[in-house]
Amino acid sequence: MDVLELYRKTGALLEGHFLLRSGRHSPRFLQSTTLLQHPLYAEAVGQALAGLFEELSVDFVVGPAMGGVVLAFVTAKALGARALFAEKDGMGGMRVREGLTIHPGERFLAVEDVVTTGASVQQAIRAAEAKGARCVAVGAIVDRSGGRAEFGVPFRALLELDFPTYAPASCPLCQRGIPLEEV
Ligand SMILES: [Zn+2]
Repeated sequence: MDVLELYRKTGALLEGHFLLRSGRHSPRFLQSTTLLQHPLYAEAVGQALAGLFEELSVDFVVGPAMGGVVLAFVTAKALGARALFAEKDGMGGMRVREGLTIHPGERFLAVEDVVTTGASVQQAIRAAEAKGARCVAVGAIVDRSGGRAEFGVPFRALLELDFPTYAPASCPLCQRGIPLEEV
């Protein structure tokens, strides 16, 4: 599957001058929600991602809300597992809400659309592990971490990308006066 082409085709690959959550600036941004709003493309992505973890048996797939909800759903469907999500707990962490059942000892795959630092998928992992389950792998559509994301379990992505990012003080796009967009 040509994942980058899918982002491009659905208008989810943005080009310009973006302020990333990390505070750095980048000429490109992947807006996964734009891609995942198409159920057929979302399912294709879920099937491809599930294919990277065929040898694992997991009870559920969990992703951080909101971005990880659809991805967890389509990946879980392809794996024949349950789909859960973690959401902000208002105290700087994440929680799995009541009603999303987790049994102690269950094994899960954690997913996120784009992993940059891995911080939000890490929070989703902690939320599910707090209910007694165990993370056995992490999956992403795109790994933008440049090999820096580490979870202590296998981490696989459909695509590895190394878009340039700049500190604001040395950003060539700022120097050219291109308007900065928050994403
Ligand atoms: Zn800039």
